[in-house]
Amino acid sequence: MVIILTQKVFRKLLNIEDAKNAFHKNYSPTPVGVERIPLDTAHNFVIAENLEASIDVPPFDRATMDGFAVCAEDTFLADDDKPVTLEIMGKIDVGEYSELVVQRGEALEISTGAPIPKGANAVVMVEHTNVQSGNLKVYKPFGPGENIMAAGSDIRAGELILRKGTLMTPRETGVLAALGVTKVKCYRRPKIAIISSGNELVSPGSRLETAKIYDINARTISDSILECGGEPLFLGIARDNLEDIRSRIEEGFEAADMVITSGGTSAGVGDLVYQVVEMLGKPGIVVHGVSVKPGKPTIIGVVDGKPIFGLPGNPTSALMIFDIFVRPAIRSMAGLREEERAVISARTSQKFYSSDGRREFMPVNVVRTEEGGYTAYPILTGSGAITTLAEADGFIEIQETRRFLREGELVKVNLFSQILKPADLMIIGSHCVGVDLILNLLSKTYYDTIYKTINTGSSGGLSAIRRGEADLAGIHLLDDKTGEYNLPFLKRFEVDKEALLIRGYNRTQGLITAKNNPLKITSFKDLVRRDVTLINRNPGSGTRILLDFYLSKIASEEVSSLKDVASSVNGYKLEAKSHTAVAVAILRGKADVGLGIETVAEQYGLSFVQISEERYDFAVRADRMNKKSVKAFLSVLRSEEFKARLRRIKGLSPTEETGDVLYP
Ligand code: AMP
Ligand code: MG
Repeated sequence: MVIILTQKVFRKLLNIEDAKNAFHKNYSPTPVGVERIPLDTAHNFVIAENLEASIDVPPFDRATMDGFAVCAEDTFLADDDKPVTLEIMGKIDVGEYSELVVQRGEALEISTGAPIPKGANAVVMVEHTNVQSGNLKVYKPFGPGENIMAAGSDIRAGELILRKGTLMTPRETGVLAALGVTKVKCYRRPKIAIISSGNELVSPGSRLETAKIYDINARTISDSILECGGEPLFLGIARDNLEDIRSRIEEGFEAADMVITSGGTSAGVGDLVYQVVEMLGKPGIVVHGVSVKPGKPTIIGVVDGKPIFGLPGNPTSALMIFDIFVRPAIRSMAGLREEERAVISARTSQKFYSSDGRREFMPVNVVRTEEGGYTAYPILTGSGAITTLAEADGFIEIQETRRFLREGELVKVNLFSQILKPADLMIIGSHCVGVDLILNLLSKTYYDTIYKTINTGSSGGLSAIRRGEADLAGIHLLDDKTGEYNLPFLKRFEVDKEALLIRGYNRTQGLITAKNNPLKITSFKDLVRRDVTLINRNPGSGTRILLDFYLSKIASEEVSSLKDVASSVNGYKLEAKSHTAVAVAILRGKADVGLGIETVAEQYGLSFVQISEERYDFAVRADRMNKKSVKAFLSVLRSEEFKARLRRIKGLSPTEETGDVLYP
């Protein structure tokens, strides 16, 4: 399947199932060994034997209450009005053994946890007694066995107490402590060597020179290994040359049961891991490339009986591929059973585009709807961003044959954790640094409020309000007919009954260009110039609507249509999903101009030509107005501190009305 022609590799991408089969044909992950280890260090190990109890727990009948050991029969006639009188013969403390035998008519004082003396078959609680001149009065009848924990009632000698393959948590180590066990047979933790590769990488703690980035994968892979019962062994960062990678991989095979590398796996110059694995032993590479997104450049190899995984460099891809292929293998090697992920059903928030011909694992946010169901939102930061996974609640798996999922389609979400923690405050809509400022101030006073923000643009925000997923949405939508902002859209999105409109603040929108505006772009008319390329925004965003509004104006002046004008704008179809992405595209020279807020132009040191002041307001669901977190958000919005700090952000300004209810 793999042909090497003078260093050039041709490969056939395998689907996930075929890749797993190819791996398992050459390596079957089974426990790497067994060792007896002290109970002190057994936490998080996996027990390798079925363990039977050698003693009874408790080892003797013991009192579960403070009181008096008696013959139950003596108390049968006791009553509040007619207490029974017994003679107190002495006392048994916890940890003491007494030879005394309780006869009919007698009682022995006893503490919780002390052994029940011979003859006694019940403990009367001290609350139901009274001591009068050395004699005990009992005011209530007690049955045989009452307030006594019988020997072996917790654990009986010979009983199967821990099953092979159980992970030792404090609950299991506690059971072993009760049995007096000091050593336990556990699976040896598989040792997993980790190698990062790339000339651009430095370890956290070192200085970050220009063009360098910190090594993320060493951290995430190491912690993932711990999570599935392995022992990580980091072998450092290999530079992108054959010798360095080779010597580290050899060291890994020497010292560990498995080797994991990240980076350097894509075909071409970076194809070093591939070459090293083929060089080191048989059978060598068994999988080169998997038709999955993210994570196509994945290598799986086996060298003299030990597996090696070459994960993609991209941190999110590396983690996804780790989950699919490496996690189950390490778990088996550690003696752990197969893991079941928590899965919930959700409906897609919008149309999800997917790559043709590759299985796609798409990280999503999950939000509870008004009816109690769930909606899955795609996370738009992309697989290059490490925060993609940190923000995600789980992922959905999209089959190779699907090009897209319909809006509202039912999908299964594989959750990253066993429980889904709902946020106290759910904000879905257009992103703005002003909202970030509110949330910052909010977390100072209301530090236990868990909030979640999903940036969908204004239209997405109003849809989320309608479905009851969002508590509030930041919106800036211009009605091209009337020039009015936001209010008309409550009706258009059919949320005029569900939502209030609360005045936010003003934002200065304008044309963002490269520093010092080299192409002298000053108005929308310049967008049709042949030497100018635009970076547009996604449909549904307020900024896109604003841009179309101005292009329509030009169209009507020239007696043509928006479509015609748009088709003569270079880059009209080039879409960025946020203000920031627009700025970055211009910074990188991918476009010359974009419509966006002054704040972002300032942040990135770009030039800015002011076009208009737009109104950024909040649609708030009426039925959430009394929610503590919503009230807190609004009180920050109305605070003088917020307004003062907002004024200091270029391009954002509070107004007289900030925080007022505009509708209804
Ligand atoms: P590569 O597979 O080496 O071509 O890397 C793909 C991308 O992932 C590049 O942008 C690398 O800079 C990045 N990358 C590779 N390894 C790491 C790492 N250990 N930590 C963070 N980013 C990485
Ligand atoms: Mg690299």
